[in-house]
Amino acid sequence: MRSGVIRSIALSAALALPLAYTHPAQADPVPSQKSLITSVGASAAKRHMQALQDIANANGGTRAAGTPGFLASRDYVAGKLKKAGWNVTLQPFDFAFFKENATASMERTAPAPKVYAPTPPDGSSVGDFATMTYSGSGNVTAALQNVDLMLPPGPTPSSSTSGCEAADFAGFVPGNIALLQRGTCTFAVKAQNAQAAGASAAIIFNEGQPGRTATLQGTLGGPGVTIPVVGASFDVGQELSAAGTAVHVVTNTTSEIRTTYNVVADSKYGDPNKVVMLGAHLDSVLPGPGINDNGSGSAVDLTIAEALGKIPTRNHLRIAWWSGEELGLLGSTFYVANLPADQLAKIKLYLNFDMVASPNYALKIYDGDDSDNTGAPAGPAGSDEIEKLFEKYFDTIHQAHNGTDFDGRSDYGPFIAAGIPAGGLFTGAEGIKTAEEATLFGGTAGVAYDHCYHQACDTIANVNDKALALNLGAIATAAVVYAYATDLPGPAAATTARKAAAAPEIGTVR
Ligand SMILES: [Zn+2]
Repeated sequence: MRSGVIRSIALSAALALPLAYTHPAQADPVPSQKSLITSVGASAAKRHMQALQDIANANGGTRAAGTPGFLASRDYVAGKLKKAGWNVTLQPFDFAFFKENATASMERTAPAPKVYAPTPPDGSSVGDFATMTYSGSGNVTAALQNVDLMLPPGPTPSSSTSGCEAADFAGFVPGNIALLQRGTCTFAVKAQNAQAAGASAAIIFNEGQPGRTATLQGTLGGPGVTIPVVGASFDVGQELSAAGTAVHVVTNTTSEIRTTYNVVADSKYGDPNKVVMLGAHLDSVLPGPGINDNGSGSAVDLTIAEALGKIPTRNHLRIAWWSGEELGLLGSTFYVANLPADQLAKIKLYLNFDMVASPNYALKIYDGDDSDNTGAPAGPAGSDEIEKLFEKYFDTIHQAHNGTDFDGRSDYGPFIAAGIPAGGLFTGAEGIKTAEEATLFGGTAGVAYDHCYHQACDTIANVNDKALALNLGAIATAAVVYAYATDLPGPAAATTARKAAAAPEIGTVR
């Protein structure tokens, strides 16, 4: 779909706003909230997504935290925000970066040559062995030395204590490769003990009981081990434990502490004690450019920021672009954890947008009130009202919608954990579209919402323009409604009195 057509969808969606969203005839800080909302166009959001694609193309196909592609994304967003009148803060934080630069290899060189199947860095298949996350790099050929193995395996998991004690390495010949068995202590302890004993590499194989035989895809928890460390299946480990075995193993990794940044934009306007916050993660995964996940949410929030930056609002708007979401909500967790309690208390609500243009989309609203009765419970009081605002928006434009579990698996997690009402929209990831959803939204049942989720093909071609425009209208509406609301969602001391005096008003839509 061409951008002109996209724009017309956004316009018609926004113009259909219910009367309840328009401001009553009183001193209004802006000319018209409706015109504000309609000034936000999907073509602008699409241009930001194209810019993020260009950034990925110029930086090895990724915008992941700790890479140049992320820094360029950060600078792009920060530059646009400054131009649009926002006060921009870059919030640095450190994290454990890991990247497997090339597919590992492992072969037995004695007694008889045998090549083992690797697990490629993108995890698209699982071989006989897999590089442990935070493994060091190396190219080693050496004799294998068994370290306190329990073969056959003991009757219960963690019968083996292989490599857990320094004493296990008494008599270990420096330069040999340590063969270790899963059990009792962490992979990190086993690998560190092996390295301390002079091992040139370590192979840790699964312990061998039922359910503990597959190729180990483990992590060392963080940087520090410099020798190659790979996990293997029980069968491979048992095979390698034979006397007279030598192995050639190669890993190529980057494992180190790096600094990344949240981008936080504050409006110059609005009551600083009533902060309305929006957020989207800006980082992609390493294997791809992340244009739907989450160039889409990043671009929508940026488009809204450009429309609202120079306009006075009643409440204070703050918008964040998080880093490290893909590594476990690192940026949003750091932000919430490091905000003083009095500042945190001023954040009245948080709206999260992570994947809002999936190619085989459903229009999902975070189930803040647990009305779907599935998975996680309801969010903090007020989350229900945010959900209802989005529902009412889509109802008003006669657009179907459904729910998605409020499970905290994106950057709103740390906010709801801190008791802040939250909500958001989502068009689906690796989950499979149901027949019912295909009836509601079109597209293909039985296929993933985003068949390129976390892959190299999550490009600008992986974006549904209609979903983008529909969600942009909904998000712009929520941003404007809450920017001017006198009665924000959730429990507030003065709410009841105000409600009695001035209903219906913006933000009282229920
Ligand atoms: Zn995401």
